[in-house]
Amino acid sequence: MAIHILSPQLANQIAAGEVVERPASVIKELVENSLDAGSTQIDIDLEQGGCKLIRIRDNGCGINKDELALALARHATSKISTLDDLDAIISLGFRGEALASISSVSRLTLTSRTAEQSEAWQVYAEGRDMKPTIKPAAHPIGSTVEVLDLFYNTPARRRFLKTEKTEFMHIEEFVRRIALSRPDVSFNLQHNGKLVKQYRASELEKRVELVCGRVFMQKAVKLDWQHDDLVIQGWVTSSENSELQYFYVNGRVIKDKLLNHALRQAYNSRTHEQQSYVVFLQIDPKQVDVNVHPAKHEVRFHEARLVHDFVYQAIVMALESNQQLAYNEKM
Ligand code: ADP
Ligand code: MG
Repeated sequence: MAIHILSPQLANQIAAGEVVERPASVIKELVENSLDAGSTQIDIDLEQGGCKLIRIRDNGCGINKDELALALARHATSKISTLDDLDAIISLGFRGEALASISSVSRLTLTSRTAEQSEAWQVYAEGRDMKPTIKPAAHPIGSTVEVLDLFYNTPARRRFLKTEKTEFMHIEEFVRRIALSRPDVSFNLQHNGKLVKQYRASELEKRVELVCGRVFMQKAVKLDWQHDDLVIQGWVTSSENSELQYFYVNGRVIKDKLLNHALRQAYNSRTHEQQSYVVFLQIDPKQVDVNVHPAKHEVRFHEARLVHDFVYQAIVMALESNQQLAYNEKM
């Protein structure tokens, strides 16, 4: 075969392989976009575990009519423009790939209205060239992305989808994770026409209790410490089942051994049980690299040792002051 440039659709489908594994990953990308757009209310509406329909509606800033088509193009983003920006990312997105990828493996429409516009517009991309079509629509300020028939044109991917129930479980788990990170935002999750989860905007502590349960909150030790530009907040407890493990770095859920290691060290002689935790770490974005993995599950700390020791110290202090408290109560 002669060398040729892949069609936009095929290039996007290949990119989709990295970020769009299942309905939950579509929802992750879309909800993160809604959050980056400054939304305070996000409605997630699904049919058949998201395999048939995913609809995310937000009240964010919306997209201008003349940028709508661009939003669906690959490597199109409003979030970074220089290499320096990449060094200090504060938005959840920055790769400019999600909408292009998702729309190459589903029937995606994006409807949006900005505050400056008196009417809304809808765009969808079609065919191998992913040529965008734009038409007027009805929508309040904000955006709705509708994703129908995920993987309809990529049978290999579709075969990997699990049952509706399993896909929905992955989605619920994602919604818990994101709801924990943004207590100031209201989320509604609707499945097959039924409202299944509702998180109203509230204080962090209330949101954590709502998501993790009262038992967790009652048992947990509170972390709250700051040193220079490192801030840690959260709740930790040891328990036999350690299902609740949420570690956020600058608002992003992270899979990283650092916290687990610090926890194990801090709990060392106290217990052999695992820990459950919801921990939020704030760090200067320049001190952490999020561009490690397309799905952004991993980060690289520039000074991992320092961060580790800070986290360890915070846990030890919390455990000690908790012990002191228990001791005082007994006296
Ligand atoms: P990224 O999030 O990495 O920039 P995406 O493909 O997810 O890339 O989105 C492309 C662009 O479309 C974003 O940079 C943003 O400007 C715009 N966009 C996407 N979703 C929304 C939304 N819900 N509200 C406002 N703008 C959006
Ligand atoms: Mg995005």
